[in-house]
Amino acid sequence: MNIGVLKETQKGERRVSITPKIAEQLKNKGFEVFIEEDSGIKSSYKNSDYSKSGAQIRTKEDIFKNADVLIKINPFDNSEIDLLKKGQIIIAQLFHKSHPKEMQHISQVGATAFSMDAMPRISRAQDMDVLSSQSNLAGYKAVILGAYEMTKIFPLMMTAAGTITPSRVLIYGVGVAGLQAIATAKRLGAIVEATDIRLETKEQTESLGAKFITVNNEDEGEDMNSVYAKVASEDYARRQQKAVNKSLFQADLVITTAMVPGRRSPVLIKEDQVKQMKNGAVIIDLAAAQGGNCELSEFNKTVVKHGVKIIGTTIAPESVSTNASDLYAKNMYNYLIHLTDDNQFKWDLKDEITDETLIVFNGEIRQNGKTEEI
Ligand code: NAD
Repeated sequence: MNIGVLKETQKGERRVSITPKIAEQLKNKGFEVFIEEDSGIKSSYKNSDYSKSGAQIRTKEDIFKNADVLIKINPFDNSEIDLLKKGQIIIAQLFHKSHPKEMQHISQVGATAFSMDAMPRISRAQDMDVLSSQSNLAGYKAVILGAYEMTKIFPLMMTAAGTITPSRVLIYGVGVAGLQAIATAKRLGAIVEATDIRLETKEQTESLGAKFITVNNEDEGEDMNSVYAKVASEDYARRQQKAVNKSLFQADLVITTAMVPGRRSPVLIKEDQVKQMKNGAVIIDLAAAQGGNCELSEFNKTVVKHGVKIIGTTIAPESVSTNASDLYAKNMYNYLIHLTDDNQFKWDLKDEITDETLIVFNGEIRQNGKTEEI
C-alpha cells in the first residue's frame, strides 16, 4: 500500500505528519511512503533525511495520482478534495462536525475519510490520540509564554539585594494541557493552584505538588466525573467563582484550558473578576479558539484590560514543530498499524476506534453531527 504524505498548506503550519523515523518504520512494515518535497523542512527534517529512511520524494500531483492513502495534519480543503479519486483514503484531523461542507465534498468524490481528532478517549486509543499529544506540548508552551509575558520571575530567589517571592499561577482545567502546565510551572518554582469540574483531577493535581481548588459538582449529574466534561450549570459557575476568586485575585499568571468536547468553551472569568485581578497579571486563554474561558479574551490577540494582559491563543503546537511532528507521526503510525493487517485495511467497524474515526466510507457519510456554533 502506498502512503502519500502531503505538505501542510495552512498558514503558519510548520509540522509534518510523518517524520523520517516513522517513514522508516512504515517501510519496515511493508508500506511504500511517498512524501511531498520539503514537507519536513519547517520541522527540521530535510528531503535527504526522508530519502535515507527509504521514503520517495514526490510532487503533490504525483502523490494524489499514485497514493492509496493520503495523510495530513490539518483538514483537507476543497482544492485538495477536488484532486481526490474515488476509492482513495484520507487521514487527517478533519474536525468533521465543524466542516460539514467538506465532508459532503469528500462524499461526492466517493473517497473514504478517517479523522484523527475523532479518536475515542479510551485507554487503548491513547497512543493514537493526536489531540492529547499536541495539547501536552501546548500546556508546556503556555507556561513558557507566560514567563516571557510576565514582569516577574517564577521562583523564590534570595539575593543580597532582597528576597523575590515566588509567582502564583492558577490553572483552570486539569486535562492534558492543564496537567502539563501545572508540571511545568511547578518545575519553574511557582506556587501553583488548579481547578477542574471533574473531581478525579484533584489527585492528579496534588501528585504534581500543586493545590487543587475543589468546587462541589454533586448537582452536575453522575457522569461529570468521566473523561468527558459536560456543560456546567449556572449554579456551578457561581460556586466556582466563589471558590476560586481569592486565588484568581492573587495570581500573577492564569492559564485557562477548560473545554467541553464539541461545545463552546465555558466562560469562567468575567469582566468584573478581571477588574479585581492584580495589575500586571497575565491570562493565557488556551480555549480562545472555542470562544474563550475569559469573557474579555480575543482569539489570536493580546489585549490589556483593567491592567491585565489577556492573550487569546491556541498555543499552536507548530511552535515546537519538531516535537509536535514526532508525536503526531508516532500517533499516526500506531493508528495505521491498528487499522491494517498485512498492509491492508481491516474495515473492522465493530472496533470502537475504527467506528468512531471513520467519517466517510466509500462516499457515504457515517457521522456528520452538527456542533454548536462558536
Ligand atoms: P478537554 O480539552 O476537553 O478539557 C480540558 C479540561 O477542562 C477538562 O479536564 C475538563 O474537565 C475541564 N473543564 C470543562 N469545563 C470546565 C468548567 N466549567 N470548569 C472547570 N474545568 C472545566 O480535556 P482533555 O485535556 O482532552 O482531557 C480530559 C480528560 O480525558 C483527561 O483526564 C485526559 O487524560 C483524558 N483523555 C484520555 C484519553 C485516552 O484515554 N485515550 C484521550 C484524551 C484525553
